[in-house]
Amino acid sequence: MIHFPLSPSDAVTLHAQGRATLRAGGTDVVDRARNGLLVGDVIDLRDVQPDAMFGGVSSTAGLGVPPSLSIGALTRIAALDVPALDAWPGLREAARTLATPQVRAMATVGGGLLQANRCWYFRHPDLRADCHKAGGATCAARSGDALRHALFDVGPCISVHPSTLGCALLAYDATFTVLEAAGLRDAGTVEALFGSGADPTRDNQLPDGAVLYAVHVDTGAGDRSAYGRATGRTWAEWPLVEATVRVGPAGVVIAAGGVAPVPVRLRVAEQALGSGASAGEAIHRECASRQLLAQSAYKVDLLAGLVQALLDRADRRSL
Ligand SMILES: Cc1cc2nc3c(=O)[nH]c(=O)nc-3n(C[C@H](O)[C@H](O)[C@H](O)COP(=O)(O)OP(=O)(O)OC[C@H]3O[C@@H](n4cnc5c(N)ncnc54)[C@H](O)[C@@H]3O)c2cc1C
Repeated sequence: MIHFPLSPSDAVTLHAQGRATLRAGGTDVVDRARNGLLVGDVIDLRDVQPDAMFGGVSSTAGLGVPPSLSIGALTRIAALDVPALDAWPGLREAARTLATPQVRAMATVGGGLLQANRCWYFRHPDLRADCHKAGGATCAARSGDALRHALFDVGPCISVHPSTLGCALLAYDATFTVLEAAGLRDAGTVEALFGSGADPTRDNQLPDGAVLYAVHVDTGAGDRSAYGRATGRTWAEWPLVEATVRVGPAGVVIAAGGVAPVPVRLRVAEQALGSGASAGEAIHRECASRQLLAQSAYKVDLLAGLVQALLDRADRRSL
């Protein structure tokens, strides 16, 4: 059954009742339904009348107060490619680069952050039976084709998290607000929303029954930043690796995607850059501090080259 709530609170009431899946833009949910991965009812947010916080972008950049940015979870990704985001160029670039214009016109910020991983073994109806993500005990990718899978081995599952916006928001230390039956609540950092990636049964740590309401960025306005990706063949696919770098008075921040079951901060590399290492040395130090997967070890050099290019681009940028 598909429910069409008219307000955010109706959506939460329905969601808190049990096993129903929220559908925002539907670009991931519909795919999952096709793959036989959806159980229970659907709560379609199509008719929800969002307030400014749930369905819009608000920025205080240039208003004479500390710059901050709030983005409602129901905001279409295409709506992020606007001058209001100019103070956070790494985020604007991420939003206008991901997927295709058609997908960005339909997909929402909440759906972009909370989309499920695209591991081809998990998504295949005949191959997922014993997959960790389906509650099983093995990972077919570990003994199969894992060229596009994780570089960092952080848990039983080696799929990569698909969220480009997650990678960008991580670099800006973003936080998020949820709507629950008890009301609106600040729920912590986007980094905590993703967690460590060690639990294969969850793509994110959003509290059960909660609706992601908005994300907030209070840092990084005016820092030089850049987002980029390395792809296999076209732009209209998930990247092999992606990264957002932010260079500010406190040093360099690097967030990477395509390397782990969650977007990750590369703190060892950040520290190395702070003590004068080159981008290549910094990424190699980061990778030396982690357990790597052999099939995707080619991503180390890809990431090093990408981060170097992004630091160069951020360096040339004047705000
Ligand atoms: C060809 C192609 C290339 C792509 N490339 C990329 C890429 O490079 N980078 C990238 O990030 N994505 C990429 N995508 C994926 C696309 O960005 C996602 O499918 C989209 O962002 C999902 O948004 P949606 O609103 O359609 O989510 P939906 O499909 O509606 O939902 C996705 C998930 O989020 C949950 N959800 C949605 N909103 C909320 C909320 N407010 N609160 C709680 N839960 C919620 C849903 O229950 C569901 O589990 C690509 C897609 C295609 C088809």
